[in-house]
Amino acid sequence: MYCKNCGKELPDGAKFCRECGAAQSEAYTNRNASGFQAPPYVMPVYVKKEYNILAILGLVFSFLVCIAGLVLSILGYRKADEMGGEGKGLALAGIIVSAVSIGLVVLTLVIYLPVALYYMALAI
Ligand SMILES: [Zn+2]
Repeated sequence: MYCKNCGKELPDGAKFCRECGAAQSEAYTNRNASGFQAPPYVMPVYVKKEYNILAILGLVFSFLVCIAGLVLSILGYRKADEMGGEGKGLALAGIIVSAVSIGLVVLTLVIYLPVALYYMALAI
């Protein structure tokens, strides 16, 4: 087959011309209702929606680990009472640190989510 735009020889079934970029199949041709054809250098742009799985997993895990830390610290705090106060301060520190971490994660979610949704909306 030959390019519909510039006449360059192309492999059969080619969707775009390698020389001038013109679409070769009707499905890829950029036409509007009045039959106007966009200049051949205008290539259809397909924006693929991509999610950053690692970033999502990282956020989920940081949240889960915070909760695990909080639960362990609370258990440790209870155990400290049984052991006559042994390690009570440490458990209390663990509770405070994990509570602050959870607060930070929630704060990050509140700030990050609208931004992430905004960029996802742009990519559609
Ligand atoms: Zn061409």
